[in-house]
Amino acid sequence: MPTSARRPTAPPPSEGLTLRAFLGVFGYSRHAVELVWSTNQTLTVGLAALTLLAGVLPVTVAYASGRIVDAVVAAIRSGGTGVHAVLGWVILEGVLVAALAAAQRGLTLTRSLLRVQLGQRVNELILEKAVTLELHHFEDSEFYDRLTRARREASSRPVSLVNRTFSLAQHFIALVSFAVMLAGFSPWAVLALLAAGVPAFIAEAKFSGDAFRLFRWRSPETRMQTYLETVLAREDYAKEVKLYGLGARLLERYRDIYRRLYRADRALTLRRGAWGFALGLLGTLTLYAAYAWIALSTVRRTITLGHMTMYLVAFRQGQADVSAMLAAIGGMYEDNLYLSTLYEYLETDVPPPPGTVQRGARPGDGIRFEDVTFGYPGADRPALEHITLHVPAGSTLALVGENGSGKTTLIKLLTRLYSPSAGHILLDGTDLAEWDEQRLRERIGVIFQDFARYQMPLGHNIGAGDERAFEDEARWRAAAELGRASDFIATLPEGYHTQLGKWFADGRELSGGQWQKVALSRAFMRTSADVLVLDEPTASMDAQAEAEVFDHVRELGGERMIILISHRFSTVRRADRIVVLEHGRILEQGAHEVLMRADGVYARLFDLQARGYR
Ligand code: ADP
Repeated sequence: MPTSARRPTAPPPSEGLTLRAFLGVFGYSRHAVELVWSTNQTLTVGLAALTLLAGVLPVTVAYASGRIVDAVVAAIRSGGTGVHAVLGWVILEGVLVAALAAAQRGLTLTRSLLRVQLGQRVNELILEKAVTLELHHFEDSEFYDRLTRARREASSRPVSLVNRTFSLAQHFIALVSFAVMLAGFSPWAVLALLAAGVPAFIAEAKFSGDAFRLFRWRSPETRMQTYLETVLAREDYAKEVKLYGLGARLLERYRDIYRRLYRADRALTLRRGAWGFALGLLGTLTLYAAYAWIALSTVRRTITLGHMTMYLVAFRQGQADVSAMLAAIGGMYEDNLYLSTLYEYLETDVPPPPGTVQRGARPGDGIRFEDVTFGYPGADRPALEHITLHVPAGSTLALVGENGSGKTTLIKLLTRLYSPSAGHILLDGTDLAEWDEQRLRERIGVIFQDFARYQMPLGHNIGAGDERAFEDEARWRAAAELGRASDFIATLPEGYHTQLGKWFADGRELSGGQWQKVALSRAFMRTSADVLVLDEPTASMDAQAEAEVFDHVRELGGERMIILISHRFSTVRRADRIVVLEHGRILEQGAHEVLMRADGVYARLFDLQARGYR
């Protein structure tokens, strides 16, 4: 792929962390919140309520434990009275702790439910977008990277972002309540509590950014790994990999990529760990300084023993809340970065097909290519140049040419999978670009040489040809008759309900020729199609079967236009018109007899093949 060739071999250096860049990425938080809200409002409200509860309860627990100590001290001094007060506070603390545990449990529960729903929702969004994309998107490696990145990480990130947002809120509430409590001791203690967390926060944000850059940098590599996994572990490759003994080599390549990725990962993890430890030490130092201060104040009797307990808990827990908040913010920063790849993908511009025409300007005119030139994106020479041809309604056209001469490309242009770089393609006198997409698709039935083999029941493999009749068994049967598939289907025990392919239980593999018959039947599902394009659909069939299929197709007759690509001249010669392509240009065109008389390339190729049969 071109992008991987251009890529540098080392991860990009981390850029300076500017506040602007840092805040900028939080832009996706709004998207994430909208996403969660629209996924399940009840759960979102539940999450918010529980978060509030889990934020407020800790300070009440700290308060109760302080009151227990004071009540005990008072009871000892008064010689045993006041036991009820002690027990009362103990019971209250017990209840509060139980409530806190319940709130936390509830949080875990709602989060995991929301995770499942949101994961599904995001995957649906990704796939819904994929359905609207155009063919060239899938062939563009940079775009493909975006899709892979989005699929790999982004489906878990919105949940994570939301969880962290709520976690931030929870710890913020707890922190504020502890800070208020602690301010009763000294505002300086509150300041120390907050200041000790700042360095850790900066480090966290920086490392999150680095991790993301690493992730982005290596997405072509990750894609290659996924691809190798496919080749090594999937049935359609297994045959070749085994026979050519490619397994060990490919596996080594897989390992090699892992080793490279791991090295970069390890470096980052080590740096992150070392800094985390150093800055954590700073926090511990602050805690114990505050500890000493609070203890000394108690000895000097500025505060009671109960207050000491309370303040110590407040400081320790407050510090835990600060680190939890920092972790949440760092994580949110990272989630936001990942989400940016999801939205980059979801926001890919796919202009809607502009055409609206339902009926051509000259019905019955057929297909015309007028000086059409086309080059694939990124290719240095055009795949087709100055193509001019006419297929009148009711006639057949055969395309002949070496591999790579542009036959399939011509079909892709005709089916509007791509648009010409220059020139026009007209159907019934109207430019293809002006046709309504739906109407155009209805009029054209195609089988490509690399047609899809759906791992689904046989009937659906045929029904796929007309989405509205996907489940219509009577229509499958009629189409299978025309595609010559009905005979072999009759020999299958489960007939049209046979599961095809090997991916699923009881799947049955077909031979190449049988698959082609199925694909051919799929094309015959388009009963309303008056343009039938067969791109080497019969290459795996025997010559007899191919001839019969062609006869069938011609018998359908009427105004149907048939465009056929075949390497068998016995079939090609029967077309009304033959076009010979070479390097994307038309070399010769005309009926068989005309081309034979002209004694050019076609005549030479025809003789060559005919001699082989004699
Ligand atoms: P044919 O069907 O005659 O074998 P194609 O139409 O498939 O030939 O290919 C014509 C030329 O276009 C070839 O040089 C091929 O390399 C190039 N080509 C085909 N498909 C693509 C594509 N998706 N992207 C870039 N180039 C392509």
